[in-house]
Amino acid sequence: PDRKDIHYFGAGPAPLPTEVLEEASKVLLNYEKKGIGITEISHRSPEANAILASTKSALRTLLSIPDSDGPDGYEILFLQGGGSGEFSATVYHMVSIWVAKQWKHIQNHSHIGVGEDVAIAALRDVVEEKMKLDYLVTGSWSLKASQEAARLVGEEKVNIVADARKHREGGKFGVVPAEDTFTATTDEADCAMTYYCDNETVDGVEFQAPPSGHNLVADMSSNFLSRPIDVKRHAAIFGGAQKNIGTTGVTLAIISKKFLPPHAEMADSKLLRKLGLPVGPVVLDWPTIAKNNSLYNTLPIFDVWIAGQVMERLISLHSDASSAIKGQEDESDKKAGMLYGALDGYPEIYSVVPDMSVRSRMNICVRVKGGHAEAEKAFLKGAEAKGLMGLKGHRSVGGVRISNYNAVPVAAAEKLTAYLEEFAKEQK
Ligand code: PLP
Repeated sequence: PDRKDIHYFGAGPAPLPTEVLEEASKVLLNYEKKGIGITEISHRSPEANAILASTKSALRTLLSIPDSDGPDGYEILFLQGGGSGEFSATVYHMVSIWVAKQWKHIQNHSHIGVGEDVAIAALRDVVEEKMKLDYLVTGSWSLKASQEAARLVGEEKVNIVADARKHREGGKFGVVPAEDTFTATTDEADCAMTYYCDNETVDGVEFQAPPSGHNLVADMSSNFLSRPIDVKRHAAIFGGAQKNIGTTGVTLAIISKKFLPPHAEMADSKLLRKLGLPVGPVVLDWPTIAKNNSLYNTLPIFDVWIAGQVMERLISLHSDASSAIKGQEDESDKKAGMLYGALDGYPEIYSVVPDMSVRSRMNICVRVKGGHAEAEKAFLKGAEAKGLMGLKGHRSVGGVRISNYNAVPVAAAEKLTAYLEEFAKEQK
């Protein structure tokens, strides 16, 4: 089939606007009439720098990210290693920041003449007794992130603020527990970070607003650029590009300048080693990447270019840049509303997996006839016959998953809505 005959609802990698891909095929061969393609030029060339600058600027505009000058600003980083790489980077970084703060405190309050060994022993006690990483586990991805934290710093340091599975009959994900049930680390000063996943891609659970929490870090891999974000509530936000932003291979991070002090003010590798804490790879080290304008090592500039094109296109589709992200949110709501509407219209055929209050606009997780294997197979087969592809649920949970990312056109959602109704009527 031709591209125009297919509507793809895969969860990631996911569709990109056709116009962006058409332009991409040209720049792969010849970038800006230089006679050489975009993947062949140096990441340190003026062209690459211009791509980086314009992509950052578009992201800043879209999400109203405070400028990087001054402590209230935010830095934008481009990294590799995907969302999973950031599961680790967040731990390395937030632990290092927390340790540096305690170290400074101990040094300021030590009596003159106290040896470094004594001070380090005091610091080790503080780390052992107090340091916690708070995780909100609301689905498979935040669970994975919390498991990575446990692998790096030890299970005893990971505080599961809420495990959504314990708040639901059947023990499956599908709710965001009420904040009055959270078991956050009691003393805020002990909490190195509070981690949450804004949209759980596998389970179809999306936060309606950022949760409470000290030193808030968010994984927005699967709903980045789909609605405005309260950036200032966060210490850091990250996400892989391959769903709403661009191609696989680049990860974006938005980090508060308050959490990006000069290296000299962070816990260095020597100190971390003495404490038995992990020292991360330099390519995941946010301050190193920030200091080098994301060019510490070879950055896939083509991926950055794609992301920039996607963002600039989004801006260009709206009369003024500041309304672009709201416009995207409205469109996402419209498509998701249409699809959920069709599903809710046939409760004897379709059951949406998560609770109504946390339904994701991006990943719509459904069981057909309560998870009847033959019915789900027939649903997928019928969809494919109509060019509606990528609807199989994640291998860990099964069922059907409709990924409604930004590049899924309204017309595609309409076609799928019609199929949902048609299939349901046939089954009656
Ligand atoms: N976080 C979320 C919410 C995701 O959906 C995914 C991947 O689908 C990841 C993290 C992991 O991303 P990556 O495969 O880029 O490491």
